[in-house]
Amino acid sequence: MKVVKFGGSSVAEAEQFKKVRNIIKSDEGRRIAVISAAGKRSKEDHKLTDLLFLCHAHLMYGVSCDDIMDSIEQRFVEIRDALSLSLDIESEFAKLRGKLSKDISADYLASRGEYFTAMLMAEYLGYKFVDAEECVFFGFDGQVDMDKSCAAIKEAYDKYGRIVIPGFYGRAATGKVKVMSRGGSDITGAIAAAAVGAEVYENWTDVSGILMADPRIVKSPKPIEKITYSELRELAFMGASVLHEESVQPVKERGIPLNIRNTNEPDHPGTMIVDAIEKEPDQEGLITGIAGRRNFTIITVSKHEMNTNAMLRRVLEIMERYHAPVEHINLGLDTIAVLASSSALGEGLYGILGDIQKICHPDDVRVQDSISLVAAVGRKMTFRPGTSGQLFKALGEKGVNIRTIAQGADELSIIVGVDNSDFETAVKVLYDGFAV
Ligand code: ASP
Repeated sequence: MKVVKFGGSSVAEAEQFKKVRNIIKSDEGRRIAVISAAGKRSKEDHKLTDLLFLCHAHLMYGVSCDDIMDSIEQRFVEIRDALSLSLDIESEFAKLRGKLSKDISADYLASRGEYFTAMLMAEYLGYKFVDAEECVFFGFDGQVDMDKSCAAIKEAYDKYGRIVIPGFYGRAATGKVKVMSRGGSDITGAIAAAAVGAEVYENWTDVSGILMADPRIVKSPKPIEKITYSELRELAFMGASVLHEESVQPVKERGIPLNIRNTNEPDHPGTMIVDAIEKEPDQEGLITGIAGRRNFTIITVSKHEMNTNAMLRRVLEIMERYHAPVEHINLGLDTIAVLASSSALGEGLYGILGDIQKICHPDDVRVQDSISLVAAVGRKMTFRPGTSGQLFKALGEKGVNIRTIAQGADELSIIVGVDNSDFETAVKVLYDGFAV
């Protein structure tokens, strides 16, 4: 039994609906489908969710959103007619238009993208439509109530056998519709997989798996075949955008593998994300994937014969006061360097420097900005002597100066800080030398 989730580009138009049906019908096990709102048909196009939020903004400012509503309705009508379905979009939209006012909730309006897309898909597949309002519940803390949601999804599945659930929203504890954060259909899919103890959670999108590096930097990077949940977390944290972060826990906890697949290339196995990988050939690349983020700032505080512990505590307290999350710390004999994202520091940087002067009385404070972090992530690096040496040598040979170094305690990742101008070279060197 498999739970399948299809993202916006997989349901953007009638042709994509056909691909989805072929995929679902080609495997008896694909019995629960979670559906996003129709996404972009081309680069210039708009996602329905964006348009719905835009409608809401118009309503707030008292500007007519009739044209946008027309174009949204038109998208659904086109899909319905092309697939000869019977859903009465026109009356549904007449009802929806009747509710449009300043008081309509943004959540309710935004959720209609998934609602209608999933209704159409359910009819097309011949699966039972189960509204997320009836099976995805939030507690008063705004978090998904897993027990209640899982029980409701399981009940609907047991009753109907084959169901379609719209992603991205559910029912709040107040009884109203509530949407998740953007990309939230991934979470709905994970909850459904957890609810029924699926054999696998297939997340269908428009790439053949997670790529080993950013394709804007490395030309045609290979997709990752297999990756552990821990590696994925490191990559995602360092900027690889793949899945909604909160979609991992429900399946990881229950040992359900997550398979990223491409609706436009259904025979490609994609990326399999699993809890642990026991046996694997040794000779393949050391690195599973590379990710990175630009624009960090390093603040270096120097003081001769400083009491390192006390000074570190004070500097961290100051950073906390200014809501600047510290990403790395380097300790030297007479120096402490903290690294934070430049945008998170923002104007707070001046306050931080002032407070460091006042509270720490340093000999010197220096600020370096335009730093990038590049992370090489790989389970095969663990307990393997010489790994970091090899990476640094390769970077050095290409003239990349390493400004900071950090190796996670579990040896799953090695992160280097380099000048922004060296960012792309560093990613390419690591990919060419160690990933493939
Ligand atoms: N449609 C929503 C969004 O665009 C949710 C999703 O697609 O996962 O964010």
